[in-house]
Amino acid sequence: MNHAIRVHEYGGPEAMVWEEVPLPAPRPGEALVRHAAIGLNYIDVYFRTGLYKAPALPATIGMEAAGVVEAVGEGVTHVVPGDRVAYATAPIGAYAEARAIKADRLVKLPDAIPFDQAAAMMLQGMTACFLLTRTYKVQAGQTILVHAAAGGVGLIMVQWAKHLGCTVIGCVSSDAKAELVRAHGADHVVVGTESLPARVKEITGGAMLPVVFDSVGRDTFMTSLDCLAPFGMMVSYGNASGPVSIADIGILAAKGSLYLTRPTLATYTAKREDLDACATALFDVVAKGAVKINVNQRFALKDAAEAHRALEGRRTTGSTILLP
Ligand code: NDP
Repeated sequence: MNHAIRVHEYGGPEAMVWEEVPLPAPRPGEALVRHAAIGLNYIDVYFRTGLYKAPALPATIGMEAAGVVEAVGEGVTHVVPGDRVAYATAPIGAYAEARAIKADRLVKLPDAIPFDQAAAMMLQGMTACFLLTRTYKVQAGQTILVHAAAGGVGLIMVQWAKHLGCTVIGCVSSDAKAELVRAHGADHVVVGTESLPARVKEITGGAMLPVVFDSVGRDTFMTSLDCLAPFGMMVSYGNASGPVSIADIGILAAKGSLYLTRPTLATYTAKREDLDACATALFDVVAKGAVKINVNQRFALKDAAEAHRALEGRRTTGSTILLP
């Protein structure tokens, strides 16, 4: 018996239906993983609404989970039945009690990391890792800006950037979120984006920033450009408020010969060695206590619609997991 949350037609949270689905047999190169916990990520919203298209409908959404390998297909040597594993990867299909997935995308979990923590941190934590160490390799002493700083990726970014020696400015939408972000080490927190460039100017003594990490997208894109120093790097890595489109790249010239990138975890972990390096770096900062994973919301998997409402309603902080 296997149950999953499936989307038959793109739409609101109500488009997600809890139903019985066949238990897949792992094909060559695949492992069958029984999920203990599933990670909730903003990308799940994009796949539910149709902003990102599923390969086919009905579709089981979700890109992250942790659990135990139950069976493996032909040719799989990397994992064996009984292994504790986690993953954060395409294709979608994580909102299920069990699923078959390419075994070479699975990461073995250190004993010290429980399933709920793993499901809460693989996607968001590896994202923080590649953004801060590869997309823009932050240096100790640099001042950086993190949008949605109280969110899943945001709260990890704040702590990791502090660990790397940065001065961190977090941007959030409420005083309560500001308090949380300060408690996780942010040096400055700005509530709302209206006065953000002016606050950044004040904080940096007019120098502005070498890099901005913007996951909000449409609502903050232009404001973020205004926070950058000449030659600064705009890292636009998400669309929580809607996708960004720019009609004229001349805006990058006008605002100081800026760089713009739209990175994804998929590209940065496509090679197995990059996936391993990223996961190992994440396990390391968590083991050291430099990054704490906040599992601040838990929902039953069958109540995924409630979880999506909370995420889209900006009522979550830190990470959220779904329990099968
Ligand atoms: P979050 O926990 O950060 O939740 C989204 C947050 O965005 C909200 O809490 C809210 O914070 C802020 N926000 C601003 N405007 C809106 C809006 N109009 N509607 C809803 N939320 C809004 O989610 P995740 O940590 O899962 O993901 C954060 C972002 O990172 C997403 O955009 C996601 O797509 C992106 N991402 C990208 C990856 C990549 O590979 N490129 C990988 C992982 C995540 P506040 O109220 O403080 O403004």
